[in-house]
Amino acid sequence: MQKLTKIIATIGPASDSQDKIESLIRKGVNVFRFNFKHSSVEWHGERIKRVNAVAKKMGIPVGTLIDLAGPEIRIRMKDESISIETDEELLLSERTLKEAKVKGFSITRPSVIDHLKDGQHVVADDGAFSFTVVKKGSAVYLRSHTKGVLATNKSLNIPGADFPLPTLIDRDLEGLKLAAAYEVDFIALSFVRSASDICDVRAEAKKHKITALIVAKIETQKALDNIDSIIDAADGVMVARGDLGVEIPIEQVPYYQKMIILKCIIAGKFVITATQMLQSMIASPLPTRAEVSDVANAIYDHTDAIMLSGETATGNYPEKTVEMMRRTAMFYEPKHQEDIRTYIQYSAKDTTAMVCDTAYNLYRRYISANQEIAGFVIFTQTGNTARILSRYRPQVPIYAFTPDKNVREGLTATYGVIPLPFEYHSTSEVGLKELTKATKILSEQNYIQKGGKLIVLHGDQWGHGSGATSIRIL
Ligand code: PGA
Ligand code: MN
Repeated sequence: MQKLTKIIATIGPASDSQDKIESLIRKGVNVFRFNFKHSSVEWHGERIKRVNAVAKKMGIPVGTLIDLAGPEIRIRMKDESISIETDEELLLSERTLKEAKVKGFSITRPSVIDHLKDGQHVVADDGAFSFTVVKKGSAVYLRSHTKGVLATNKSLNIPGADFPLPTLIDRDLEGLKLAAAYEVDFIALSFVRSASDICDVRAEAKKHKITALIVAKIETQKALDNIDSIIDAADGVMVARGDLGVEIPIEQVPYYQKMIILKCIIAGKFVITATQMLQSMIASPLPTRAEVSDVANAIYDHTDAIMLSGETATGNYPEKTVEMMRRTAMFYEPKHQEDIRTYIQYSAKDTTAMVCDTAYNLYRRYISANQEIAGFVIFTQTGNTARILSRYRPQVPIYAFTPDKNVREGLTATYGVIPLPFEYHSTSEVGLKELTKATKILSEQNYIQKGGKLIVLHGDQWGHGSGATSIRIL
Protein backbone atom coordinates (compact mmCIF):
# COMPACT_ATOMS: atom_id res chain seq x y z
CA MET A 1 0.00 0.00 0.00
CA GLN A 2 1.24 3.49 -0.87
CA LYS A 3 0.89 6.66 1.17
CA LEU A 4 -1.22 9.07 -0.90
CA THR A 5 -1.15 12.26 1.18
CA LYS A 6 2.14 14.13 0.76
CA ILE A 7 4.35 15.11 3.69
CA ILE A 8 6.36 18.34 3.74
CA ALA A 9 9.14 18.65 6.34
CA THR A 10 10.86 21.88 7.28
CA ILE A 11 14.61 21.44 7.37
CA GLY A 12 16.65 22.70 10.32
CA PRO A 13 19.53 21.71 12.58
CA ALA A 14 17.56 18.63 13.72
CA SER A 15 17.20 17.25 10.21
CA ASP A 16 19.87 18.63 7.89
CA SER A 17 22.51 15.89 7.79
CA GLN A 18 22.72 13.62 4.78
CA ASP A 19 21.73 10.60 6.89
CA LYS A 20 18.75 12.36 8.46
CA ILE A 21 17.53 13.58 5.08
CA GLU A 22 17.74 10.08 3.66
CA SER A 23 15.97 8.52 6.61
CA LEU A 24 13.21 11.18 6.55
CA ILE A 25 12.61 10.44 2.85
CA ARG A 26 12.34 6.73 3.66
CA LYS A 27 9.85 7.51 6.45
CA GLY A 28 7.62 9.42 4.01
CA VAL A 29 8.81 12.98 3.37
CA ASN A 30 8.05 14.10 -0.19
CA VAL A 31 9.10 17.76 -0.03
CA PHE A 32 11.65 19.62 2.12
CA ARG A 33 10.83 23.21 3.07
CA PHE A 34 13.51 25.86 3.48
CA ASN A 35 12.21 28.59 5.75
CA PHE A 36 13.95 31.83 4.77
CA LYS A 37 12.98 33.51 8.02
CA HIS A 38 15.73 31.53 9.68
CA SER A 39 19.43 30.89 8.87
CA SER A 40 21.56 32.51 6.19
CA VAL A 41 20.99 32.27 2.46
CA GLU A 42 24.24 30.26 2.22
CA TRP A 43 23.03 27.85 4.91
CA HIS A 44 19.91 27.14 2.85
CA GLY A 45 21.89 26.84 -0.38
CA GLU A 46 24.07 24.10 1.11
CA ARG A 47 21.03 22.15 2.34
CA ILE A 48 19.14 22.45 -0.94
CA LYS A 49 22.17 20.96 -2.69
CA ARG A 50 22.28 18.20 -0.07
CA VAL A 51 18.60 17.27 -0.49
CA ASN A 52 18.99 17.19 -4.27
CA ALA A 53 22.09 14.97 -3.98
CA VAL A 54 20.38 12.51 -1.60
CA ALA A 55 17.26 12.35 -3.81
CA LYS A 56 19.41 11.70 -6.88
CA LYS A 57 21.31 8.94 -5.09
CA MET A 58 18.04 7.32 -3.97
CA GLY A 59 16.45 7.74 -7.41
CA ILE A 60 13.30 9.22 -5.86
CA PRO A 61 11.71 12.55 -6.84
CA VAL A 62 11.91 14.82 -3.80
CA GLY A 63 10.58 18.38 -3.92
CA THR A 64 12.31 21.47 -2.56
CA LEU A 65 10.28 24.44 -1.34
CA ILE A 66 11.71 27.86 -0.55
CA ASP A 67 9.48 29.77 1.86
CA LEU A 68 9.96 33.53 1.39
CA ALA A 69 9.13 36.00 4.14
CA GLY A 70 7.42 38.50 1.82
CA PRO A 71 5.48 41.22 3.64
CA GLU A 72 5.65 39.56 7.05
CA ILE A 73 7.00 41.46 10.06
CA ARG A 74 9.57 40.31 12.62
CA ILE A 75 10.88 41.89 15.80
CA ARG A 76 14.40 43.33 15.87
CA MET A 77 16.05 44.22 19.15
CA LYS A 78 19.50 45.08 20.38
CA ASP A 79 19.63 42.26 22.91
CA GLU A 80 18.57 38.65 22.53
CA SER A 81 15.36 39.26 24.46
CA ILE A 82 13.55 41.61 26.83
CA SER A 83 11.36 40.93 29.80
CA ILE A 84 7.94 42.57 29.51
CA GLU A 85 5.47 43.36 32.33
CA THR A 86 1.72 43.88 32.03
CA ASP A 87 0.78 47.54 31.42
CA GLU A 88 4.34 48.46 30.51
CA GLU A 89 4.85 50.89 27.61
CA LEU A 90 7.52 49.97 25.06
CA LEU A 91 8.88 52.26 22.39
CA LEU A 92 8.41 50.97 18.84
CA SER A 93 11.29 52.64 17.07
CA GLU A 94 12.30 53.02 13.44
CA ARG A 95 15.74 51.68 14.24
CA THR A 96 17.05 49.09 16.68
CA LEU A 97 17.58 51.02 19.91
CA LYS A 98 21.31 51.44 20.43
CA GLU A 99 21.21 53.07 23.85
CA ALA A 100 19.42 50.99 26.46
CA LYS A 101 17.75 54.05 28.08
CA VAL A 102 14.36 53.52 26.44
CA LYS A 103 12.90 50.06 26.59
CA GLY A 104 11.48 48.82 23.32
CA PHE A 105 12.25 47.25 19.97
CA SER A 106 12.10 47.79 16.24
CA ILE A 107 10.69 45.70 13.38
CA THR A 108 11.87 44.40 10.03
CA ARG A 109 9.43 46.67 8.18
CA PRO A 110 9.80 50.01 10.04
CA SER A 111 7.76 51.85 7.39
CA VAL A 112 4.55 50.43 8.91
CA ILE A 113 5.15 52.26 12.22
CA ASP A 114 3.92 55.54 10.69
CA HIS A 115 0.67 53.87 9.64
CA LEU A 116 -0.23 52.56 13.10
CA LYS A 117 -3.30 54.10 14.69
CA ASP A 118 -3.87 54.98 18.34
CA GLY A 119 -5.61 52.05 20.06
CA GLN A 120 -4.74 49.55 17.34
CA HIS A 121 -4.21 45.93 18.41
CA VAL A 122 -0.77 44.38 17.88
CA VAL A 123 0.40 40.87 18.81
CA ALA A 124 3.82 39.25 18.94
CA ASP A 125 5.34 35.76 19.08
CA ASP A 126 2.39 33.87 17.56
CA GLY A 127 -0.07 35.69 19.80
CA ALA A 128 1.71 35.08 23.11
CA PHE A 129 2.12 38.85 23.60
CA SER A 130 -0.64 41.36 23.09
CA PHE A 131 -0.34 45.18 22.88
CA THR A 132 -2.29 48.36 22.18
CA VAL A 133 -0.75 51.19 20.18
CA VAL A 134 -0.30 54.42 22.16
CA LYS A 135 0.74 57.46 20.11
CA LYS A 136 2.60 60.25 21.87
CA GLY A 137 3.33 62.97 19.35
CA SER A 138 5.43 61.36 16.65
CA ALA A 139 6.53 58.52 18.94
CA VAL A 140 4.73 55.19 18.89
CA TYR A 141 4.51 53.08 22.05
CA LEU A 142 3.03 49.65 22.62
CA ARG A 143 1.20 49.10 25.91
CA SER A 144 1.47 45.46 26.89
CA HIS A 145 -1.45 43.36 28.13
CA THR A 146 0.68 40.29 28.76
CA LYS A 147 3.93 39.52 30.46
CA GLY A 148 6.84 37.32 29.56
CA VAL A 149 10.21 37.25 27.84
CA LEU A 150 10.03 38.38 24.22
CA ALA A 151 12.96 37.36 22.01
CA THR A 152 14.34 39.07 18.92
CA ASN A 153 13.23 37.74 15.51
CA LYS A 154 9.81 36.68 16.84
CA SER A 155 6.77 37.42 14.70
CA LEU A 156 4.74 40.61 14.94
CA ASN A 157 1.18 40.74 13.63
CA ILE A 158 -1.14 43.68 13.18
CA PRO A 159 -4.48 41.92 12.61
CA GLY A 160 -6.57 43.40 9.83
CA ALA A 161 -3.81 45.77 8.73
CA ASP A 162 -3.32 46.58 5.09
CA PHE A 163 -0.09 48.49 4.55
CA PRO A 164 1.52 49.35 1.22
CA LEU A 165 4.54 47.09 1.76
CA PRO A 166 6.53 45.82 -1.23
CA THR A 167 5.93 42.11 -1.94
CA LEU A 168 9.54 40.97 -1.71
CA ILE A 169 12.47 42.02 0.47
CA ASP A 170 16.16 41.82 -0.54
CA ARG A 171 16.62 38.50 1.18
CA ASP A 172 13.70 37.06 -0.79
CA LEU A 173 15.44 38.13 -3.98
CA GLU A 174 18.55 36.26 -2.81
CA GLY A 175 16.27 33.26 -2.26
CA LEU A 176 15.07 33.51 -5.85
CA LYS A 177 18.68 33.40 -7.04
CA LEU A 178 19.13 30.17 -5.08
CA ALA A 179 15.91 28.83 -6.58
CA ALA A 180 17.36 29.47 -10.03
CA ALA A 181 20.77 27.98 -9.23
CA TYR A 182 19.47 24.76 -7.64
CA GLU A 183 16.26 24.18 -9.61
CA VAL A 184 14.03 24.61 -6.59
CA ASP A 185 10.54 23.19 -7.26
CA PHE A 186 8.26 25.43 -5.19
CA ILE A 187 8.41 29.06 -4.08
CA ALA A 188 6.02 29.92 -1.26
CA LEU A 189 5.20 33.53 -0.43
CA SER A 190 4.20 34.49 3.13
CA PHE A 191 1.50 37.03 3.92
CA VAL A 192 0.02 37.14 0.45
CA ARG A 193 -2.54 39.97 0.29
CA SER A 194 -3.90 39.69 -3.23
CA ALA A 195 -3.30 38.02 -6.59
CA SER A 196 -0.94 40.82 -7.55
CA ASP A 197 1.57 39.64 -4.90
CA ILE A 198 1.65 36.29 -6.70
CA CYS A 199 2.06 38.06 -10.05
CA ASP A 200 5.02 40.03 -8.58
CA VAL A 201 6.75 36.80 -7.53
CA ARG A 202 6.02 35.22 -10.88
CA ALA A 203 7.46 38.22 -12.73
CA GLU A 204 10.57 38.22 -10.56
CA ALA A 205 10.96 34.43 -10.99
CA LYS A 206 10.64 34.82 -14.74
CA LYS A 207 13.61 37.19 -14.78
CA HIS A 208 15.71 34.35 -13.36
CA LYS A 209 14.14 31.80 -15.75
CA ILE A 210 12.71 29.91 -12.75
CA THR A 211 10.12 27.23 -13.51
CA ALA A 212 9.17 26.64 -9.85
CA LEU A 213 5.49 26.47 -8.89
CA ILE A 214 4.27 29.41 -6.82
CA VAL A 215 2.53 28.70 -3.50
CA ALA A 216 0.34 31.36 -1.86
CA LYS A 217 0.41 31.22 1.95
CA ILE A 218 -3.00 32.22 3.29
CA GLU A 219 -2.43 33.86 6.68
CA THR A 220 -4.37 37.12 6.80
CA GLN A 221 -7.95 38.38 6.58
CA LYS A 222 -6.96 40.26 3.43
CA ALA A 223 -5.97 36.98 1.75
CA LEU A 224 -9.30 35.43 2.78
CA ASP A 225 -11.11 38.41 1.27
CA ASN A 226 -9.29 37.80 -2.03
CA ILE A 227 -9.17 34.02 -1.82
CA ASP A 228 -10.65 33.15 -5.24
CA SER A 229 -8.35 35.39 -7.26
CA ILE A 230 -5.33 34.29 -5.20
CA ILE A 231 -6.08 30.59 -5.85
CA ASP A 232 -6.52 31.44 -9.50
CA ALA A 233 -3.14 33.22 -9.71
CA ALA A 234 -1.14 30.64 -7.71
CA ASP A 235 -0.12 27.07 -8.58
CA GLY A 236 -0.71 25.88 -5.04
CA VAL A 237 -1.89 27.18 -1.69
CA MET A 238 -0.85 26.77 1.94
CA VAL A 239 -3.33 27.04 4.80
CA ALA A 240 -0.80 28.78 7.06
CA ARG A 241 -2.63 28.23 10.32
CA GLY A 242 0.13 29.68 12.49
CA ASP A 243 -0.28 33.28 11.47
CA LEU A 244 -3.89 32.84 10.36
CA GLY A 245 -4.74 31.92 13.96
CA VAL A 246 -3.33 35.26 15.12
CA GLU A 247 -4.68 37.44 12.32
CA ILE A 248 -8.27 36.16 12.59
CA PRO A 249 -10.12 34.73 15.62
CA ILE A 250 -8.45 31.38 16.26
CA GLU A 251 -11.75 29.48 16.46
CA GLN A 252 -12.43 30.31 12.80
CA VAL A 253 -9.26 28.61 11.48
CA PRO A 254 -10.77 25.11 10.97
CA TYR A 255 -13.65 26.64 9.00
CA TYR A 256 -11.29 28.40 6.61
CA GLN A 257 -9.10 25.30 6.35
CA LYS A 258 -12.08 23.34 5.00
CA MET A 259 -13.17 26.19 2.74
CA ILE A 260 -9.71 26.73 1.20
CA ILE A 261 -9.09 23.01 0.64
CA LEU A 262 -12.39 22.60 -1.19
CA LYS A 263 -11.79 25.68 -3.35
CA CYS A 264 -8.35 24.32 -4.29
CA ILE A 265 -9.76 20.92 -5.23
CA ILE A 266 -12.31 22.57 -7.49
CA ALA A 267 -9.59 24.75 -9.06
CA GLY A 268 -7.17 21.81 -9.51
CA LYS A 269 -4.48 23.50 -7.38
CA PHE A 270 -2.57 21.59 -4.70
CA VAL A 271 -3.18 22.58 -1.09
CA ILE A 272 -0.95 22.21 1.97
CA THR A 273 -2.26 22.17 5.55
CA ALA A 274 0.42 23.62 7.81
CA THR A 275 1.54 24.37 11.35
CA GLN A 276 1.30 22.74 14.75
CA MET A 277 0.02 19.46 13.33
CA LEU A 278 2.15 17.42 15.74
CA GLN A 279 3.55 20.34 17.75
CA SER A 280 4.01 18.49 21.05
CA MET A 281 6.33 16.03 19.29
CA ILE A 282 8.98 18.77 19.28
CA ALA A 283 9.60 17.71 22.88
CA SER A 284 7.79 14.41 23.26
CA PRO A 285 8.04 11.09 21.38
CA LEU A 286 4.25 10.78 21.36
CA PRO A 287 1.66 13.29 20.08
CA THR A 288 -1.53 14.31 21.86
CA ARG A 289 -4.82 12.71 20.83
CA ALA A 290 -5.93 16.11 19.55
CA GLU A 291 -2.92 16.38 17.25
CA VAL A 292 -3.47 12.96 15.72
CA SER A 293 -7.10 13.96 15.21
CA ASP A 294 -5.92 17.11 13.48
CA VAL A 295 -3.81 15.13 11.00
CA ALA A 296 -6.69 12.71 10.40
CA ASN A 297 -9.14 15.56 9.92
CA ALA A 298 -6.92 17.28 7.36
CA ILE A 299 -7.03 14.01 5.43
CA TYR A 300 -10.82 13.93 5.77
CA ASP A 301 -10.80 17.50 4.41
CA HIS A 302 -8.90 16.07 1.37
CA THR A 303 -5.73 18.12 1.75
CA ASP A 304 -2.97 17.28 -0.75
CA ALA A 305 -0.15 17.67 1.74
CA ILE A 306 0.45 17.99 5.48
CA MET A 307 3.37 19.99 6.77
CA LEU A 308 5.78 19.86 9.70
CA SER A 309 7.63 22.97 10.90
CA GLY A 310 9.46 23.02 14.25
CA GLU A 311 8.76 19.29 14.63
CA THR A 312 11.39 18.43 12.00
CA ALA A 313 13.46 21.66 11.99
CA THR A 314 14.44 21.82 15.64
CA GLY A 315 12.48 19.06 17.39
CA ASN A 316 13.88 16.10 19.28
CA TYR A 317 12.04 13.48 17.23
CA PRO A 318 11.97 14.42 13.53
CA GLU A 319 11.84 10.81 12.30
CA LYS A 320 9.23 9.68 14.83
CA THR A 321 7.08 12.68 13.85
CA VAL A 322 7.18 11.86 10.13
CA GLU A 323 6.48 8.21 10.96
CA MET A 324 3.45 9.27 13.03
CA MET A 325 2.14 11.37 10.16
CA ARG A 326 2.62 8.58 7.67
CA ARG A 327 0.88 6.00 9.86
CA THR A 328 -2.04 8.34 10.49
CA ALA A 329 -2.36 9.21 6.80
CA MET A 330 -2.25 5.59 5.69
CA PHE A 331 -4.85 4.50 8.23
CA TYR A 332 -7.36 7.18 7.22
CA GLU A 333 -6.81 7.41 3.45
CA PRO A 334 -8.76 4.23 2.63
CA LYS A 335 -11.52 5.20 5.07
CA HIS A 336 -12.70 8.53 3.73
CA GLN A 337 -15.15 7.72 0.99
CA GLU A 338 -16.64 11.09 0.15
CA ASP A 339 -17.60 11.34 -3.50
CA ILE A 340 -15.87 14.48 -4.73
CA ARG A 341 -17.68 14.32 -8.07
CA THR A 342 -20.49 16.32 -6.51
CA TYR A 343 -18.21 19.38 -6.26
CA ILE A 344 -16.32 19.17 -9.51
CA GLN A 345 -17.41 21.07 -12.57
CA TYR A 346 -15.69 21.22 -15.93
CA SER A 347 -16.34 22.45 -19.39
CA ALA A 348 -17.12 20.01 -22.20
CA LYS A 349 -14.40 21.84 -24.13
CA ASP A 350 -11.83 20.55 -21.63
CA THR A 351 -11.11 17.08 -23.03
CA THR A 352 -8.60 16.18 -20.32
CA ALA A 353 -11.13 16.98 -17.57
CA MET A 354 -13.80 14.95 -19.42
CA VAL A 355 -11.47 11.97 -19.77
CA CYS A 356 -10.39 12.17 -16.10
CA ASP A 357 -14.01 12.28 -14.98
CA THR A 358 -14.84 9.25 -17.12
CA ALA A 359 -11.79 7.37 -15.82
CA TYR A 360 -12.79 8.13 -12.25
CA ASN A 361 -16.36 6.95 -12.96
CA LEU A 362 -14.94 3.69 -14.22
CA TYR A 363 -12.88 3.36 -11.06
CA ARG A 364 -15.97 3.85 -8.88
CA ARG A 365 -17.90 1.26 -10.90
CA TYR A 366 -15.15 -1.28 -10.40
CA ILE A 367 -14.74 -0.75 -6.68
CA SER A 368 -18.48 -0.69 -6.03
CA ALA A 369 -18.57 -4.12 -7.67
CA ASN A 370 -15.73 -5.21 -5.35
CA GLN A 371 -13.30 -5.32 -8.26
CA GLU A 372 -9.90 -4.17 -7.18
CA ILE A 373 -8.06 -1.42 -9.08
CA ALA A 374 -4.29 -1.27 -8.52
CA GLY A 375 -3.96 2.31 -9.68
CA PHE A 376 -4.13 4.79 -12.52
CA VAL A 377 -1.32 5.06 -15.04
CA ILE A 378 -0.93 8.31 -16.91
CA PHE A 379 1.50 9.60 -19.46
CA THR A 380 1.82 13.32 -19.03
CA GLN A 381 4.08 15.99 -20.32
CA THR A 382 3.09 18.95 -18.19
CA GLY A 383 1.65 17.12 -15.17
CA ASN A 384 -1.76 18.59 -15.93
CA THR A 385 -3.59 15.26 -16.33
CA ALA A 386 -2.15 14.13 -12.99
CA ARG A 387 -3.45 17.25 -11.22
CA ILE A 388 -6.91 17.03 -12.80
CA LEU A 389 -7.28 13.36 -11.88
CA SER A 390 -5.90 13.90 -8.37
CA ARG A 391 -8.82 16.27 -7.67
CA TYR A 392 -11.08 13.21 -7.27
CA ARG A 393 -8.83 11.89 -4.48
CA PRO A 394 -8.96 8.26 -5.63
CA GLN A 395 -7.85 5.78 -2.98
CA VAL A 396 -5.21 4.25 -5.24
CA PRO A 397 -2.00 5.80 -6.60
CA ILE A 398 -1.81 7.78 -9.82
CA TYR A 399 1.43 6.61 -11.48
CA ALA A 400 2.49 9.59 -13.57
CA PHE A 401 5.08 8.83 -16.23
CA THR A 402 6.74 11.97 -17.48
CA PRO A 403 10.08 12.67 -19.17
CA ASP A 404 10.71 16.00 -17.44
CA LYS A 405 12.47 16.00 -14.05
CA ASN A 406 11.00 19.39 -13.11
CA VAL A 407 7.48 18.14 -13.82
CA ARG A 408 8.11 15.06 -11.68
CA GLU A 409 9.36 17.12 -8.77
CA GLY A 410 6.51 19.62 -9.23
CA LEU A 411 4.08 16.74 -8.60
CA THR A 412 5.61 15.83 -5.23
CA ALA A 413 3.04 17.95 -3.36
CA THR A 414 -0.01 16.59 -5.21
CA TYR A 415 -2.21 13.97 -3.52
CA GLY A 416 -1.84 10.40 -4.74
CA VAL A 417 0.58 11.10 -7.58
CA ILE A 418 3.70 8.96 -7.84
CA PRO A 419 5.88 10.59 -10.52
CA LEU A 420 8.13 8.29 -12.54
CA PRO A 421 10.62 8.98 -15.34
CA PHE A 422 9.84 7.89 -18.89
CA GLU A 423 11.71 8.36 -22.15
CA TYR A 424 9.67 9.06 -25.22
CA HIS A 425 10.03 9.97 -28.88
CA SER A 426 8.10 13.01 -29.97
CA THR A 427 6.62 11.34 -33.03
CA SER A 428 5.34 8.17 -31.40
CA GLU A 429 1.94 7.44 -29.92
CA VAL A 430 1.49 5.79 -26.57
CA GLY A 431 1.07 2.22 -27.75
CA LEU A 432 1.46 -1.33 -26.52
CA LYS A 433 5.23 -0.93 -26.37
CA GLU A 434 5.01 2.02 -23.97
CA LEU A 435 2.34 0.33 -21.86
CA THR A 436 4.44 -2.82 -21.53
CA LYS A 437 7.44 -0.74 -20.57
CA ALA A 438 5.46 1.23 -17.97
CA THR A 439 3.96 -1.85 -16.32
CA LYS A 440 7.39 -3.46 -16.30
CA ILE A 441 8.79 -0.45 -14.41
CA LEU A 442 5.89 -0.58 -11.94
CA SER A 443 6.27 -4.28 -11.22
CA GLU A 444 10.05 -4.10 -11.02
CA GLN A 445 9.74 -1.36 -8.42
CA ASN A 446 7.12 -3.43 -6.54
CA TYR A 447 4.34 -0.90 -7.03
CA ILE A 448 2.05 -3.47 -8.65
CA GLN A 449 1.62 -7.23 -8.73
CA LYS A 450 0.65 -9.54 -11.53
CA GLY A 451 -3.09 -9.77 -12.09
CA GLY A 452 -4.03 -6.30 -10.88
CA LYS A 453 -6.11 -3.93 -12.99
CA LEU A 454 -4.83 -0.51 -14.05
CA ILE A 455 -6.76 2.37 -15.57
CA VAL A 456 -4.54 4.04 -18.15
CA LEU A 457 -4.94 7.59 -19.48
CA HIS A 458 -2.93 8.99 -22.35
CA GLY A 459 -3.01 11.44 -25.22
CA ASP A 460 -2.82 11.00 -28.99
CA GLN A 461 0.81 11.75 -29.44
CA TRP A 462 3.68 12.64 -27.15
CA GLY A 463 4.88 16.20 -27.29
CA HIS A 464 1.82 17.70 -28.93
CA GLY A 465 0.06 18.94 -25.83
CA SER A 466 -3.10 17.02 -26.67
CA GLY A 467 -3.84 16.29 -23.01
CA ALA A 468 -5.56 13.01 -22.15
CA THR A 469 -7.74 11.61 -24.94
CA SER A 470 -7.81 7.85 -24.32
CA ILE A 471 -8.65 5.47 -21.50
CA ARG A 472 -7.65 1.83 -21.39
CA ILE A 473 -8.13 -0.90 -18.84
CA LEU A 474 -4.97 -2.90 -18.51
P1 PGA B 1 5.45 30.26 8.88
O1 PGA B 1 4.17 30.00 7.99
O2 PGA B 1 5.77 29.01 9.59
O3 PGA B 1 6.47 30.64 7.88
O4 PGA B 1 5.03 31.40 9.75
C1 PGA B 1 3.22 29.05 8.30
C2 PGA B 1 2.14 29.57 9.21
O5 PGA B 1 2.07 30.76 9.52
O6 PGA B 1 1.31 28.74 9.57
MN1 MN C 1 3.30 32.31 8.73
